[in-house]
Amino acid sequence: MIASDLRSGVERLGDMIAEASTILPFTGAGISTETGIPDFRSPGGLWTRNRPIPFDEFIASPEARAESWRRRFAMEPTFAAAKPGRGHRALASLYRAGKIPAIITQNIDNLHQASGFAPEHVIELHGNTTYARCIGCGRDYDLAWVRRSFEAAGEAPDCTDCDEPVKTATVSFGQAMPEDAMRRATELAQHCDLFLAIGSSLVVWPAAGFPQLARNCGARLVIINNEPTDQDDLADLVIRHDIGETLGPFVGN
Ligand SMILES: [Zn+2]
Repeated sequence: MIASDLRSGVERLGDMIAEASTILPFTGAGISTETGIPDFRSPGGLWTRNRPIPFDEFIASPEARAESWRRRFAMEPTFAAAKPGRGHRALASLYRAGKIPAIITQNIDNLHQASGFAPEHVIELHGNTTYARCIGCGRDYDLAWVRRSFEAAGEAPDCTDCDEPVKTATVSFGQAMPEDAMRRATELAQHCDLFLAIGSSLVVWPAAGFPQLARNCGARLVIINNEPTDQDDLADLVIRHDIGETLGPFVGN
């Protein structure tokens, strides 16, 4: 059912939240756009202007690594300034109230953690861009360390322990999905009774599979997105409105 207007959609969503005992939110870029972080995939987004650097190219080419880090440093003012929006804060309220055990996100911006979710309760399918990780041994590095090393040496730094390249802790194109995150997301989708798909076009794998899985396991499905998605037909409720306005009423509940 597609909500006829914002008010009736919010009312119906409120009822469904009240009736649910285990809510599983799944978030995409749309929840973060009001915080100033661009949707990389959208028309006019960064990826339509700057071709993403695939994982194998990052590994093979020092120049690709340098370019990748230059782009990341150029984005730093945007990421550093972003604060959780109304959508993030509404979900954090439901988390504190015990309704949400964990959250699945396609976003890499760390804003769910910043809104109050414990890091172990944020399942990041595409990783996190606010720190770096060695692709060999998995050691984590601060971005500030990467930047200092890059500026001192004039090239992207390698791990001080194992000499393998250090990359943002994100999942690049062509890089394997994180197995642990996928396994936990699958289990959560199987055991929730309300699945909230928020700000995702639900076309990129594996995002597209989770709403369907939750639905097949008996959960109700709500899709909140400005644009239609391929899965709207499956949903018990579709709200095609701004995410901040839709979830704003649930902040502090
Ligand atoms: Zn290493």
